[in-house]
Amino acid sequence: MQFRSTQSNKVLVSFKDALLRCLPLEGGLYVPTSVMDLRQFFFYMDTDTDYPELVATVAPPLLHGELNPFSASRVAQSAFAFEPELQQLDERFSLLNLYNGPTGVFKDFGISFLAAVMEELLKNNRRGLCISATRGDTGISMAQAFYQRQNIIACLLYPLGSIRGLDPDTFMGNGGNIIPIQVQGTFDDCQRLVIEIIKDRLFAEPYGITTANSLNPGRLLPQAFYYLYAFIKLKKQLKGDLLFSVPCGNFGNLIAGLYAWKFGMPAQGFIAAMNANNAFGGFLNGAAFTPHGLIPTVSPALDVSVPSNYERLLSFYEEAPAVMRNMVFPASIDDRTTLEVMDKVYKHYGVCLDPHGAVAFAAAERVLASHDRADEDPHVVVLATGHPAREAETIAKATGQTIVMPPKLGVLKRKLEPMAIIKPHLDALEGAIASCI
Ligand SMILES: *Cc1c(COP(=O)(O)O)cnc(C)c1O
Repeated sequence: MQFRSTQSNKVLVSFKDALLRCLPLEGGLYVPTSVMDLRQFFFYMDTDTDYPELVATVAPPLLHGELNPFSASRVAQSAFAFEPELQQLDERFSLLNLYNGPTGVFKDFGISFLAAVMEELLKNNRRGLCISATRGDTGISMAQAFYQRQNIIACLLYPLGSIRGLDPDTFMGNGGNIIPIQVQGTFDDCQRLVIEIIKDRLFAEPYGITTANSLNPGRLLPQAFYYLYAFIKLKKQLKGDLLFSVPCGNFGNLIAGLYAWKFGMPAQGFIAAMNANNAFGGFLNGAAFTPHGLIPTVSPALDVSVPSNYERLLSFYEEAPAVMRNMVFPASIDDRTTLEVMDKVYKHYGVCLDPHGAVAFAAAERVLASHDRADEDPHVVVLATGHPAREAETIAKATGQTIVMPPKLGVLKRKLEPMAIIKPHLDALEGAIASCI
């Protein structure tokens, strides 16, 4: 599979180059060009197939010539000590629970694969440094995924006050390969610094600097795997259409679903579930995109006013606007409905959804009610992206239920000291990196 920039199709690069460079020199974001048809591989998989097996089966044909079956198997085994879980509720709904990783959020799936595949691709070769801006969770997920990876260092940039949940034994200098740096500024400063350092080729090349933010196609592509997993688990029983309902913030997850569909997964549609921050709804219905101001809600991970994957989504719509309008159904869910649905789902199915999953569930119900599809009722897979324990207060408010924090997630709150504290300038960041390594 080759990648091009969303802004030009002149230069094509391999998966490895897209992963290691992260941003195309000519501007824009990397998107896959060739479309792989994986359908023949679906026959070999069924309800007994576990997640690492699925990943090891589909990664070699997707990354043709770059990852052989042995490497793919090694990557899948070392990335996935946790699995997605498909929970069928009834004829109409299933949940795809994606919160069993180390931080209780679906982002663990992309980050874990990125770290494992990066180690494999850099084998016997050069070193790599993966740098990311984080308010907390991405950093924790990265520290877990990158710890002790050969030839790779992970550098985490935190805004003031938000560093937590790491183990100092994993830090560079204490025998580890993790460098947490606190930036005296905001999260936006951290994100800006990541882009600036990647673009400073003279500094970045010798260190092999790339990022694990969702700009990186090496993190986005593996998110397609859990959509395939849901399909494989359900395929024998499907009678009508298959839809996915995805809670959308930066729209990376939705785009990964569209990739899975491009790879041959027979889905009939995707529900783009948003909270009150729904500036994208108009765009998905064919209007120009006009960002709104940010509205705080009970589903904070979806509070995004300008989704960072805008260009990737746009490139789907530029290719085939009519197809996309028949594939992607936007829905905006307000806080009151979100809380009501949490209560309703608990009473009806005995399942506690976190507010992000609840937004997706409510959006699925709304879209089903407004679409009269012929024949059989469609089946909707609702993506449960966050562990309920992370939003225990909201769940208690909505359902009256008390959620106990699993010990594994308890460490997320632990406070600690960074290895360096810097001013929000590129020079300061480069100086800190040079002195830590
Ligand atoms: C990040 C996040 C989302 C949004 O995913 P995008 O890929 O940014 O659209 C949804 N739910 C949870 C719990 C998240 O952490």
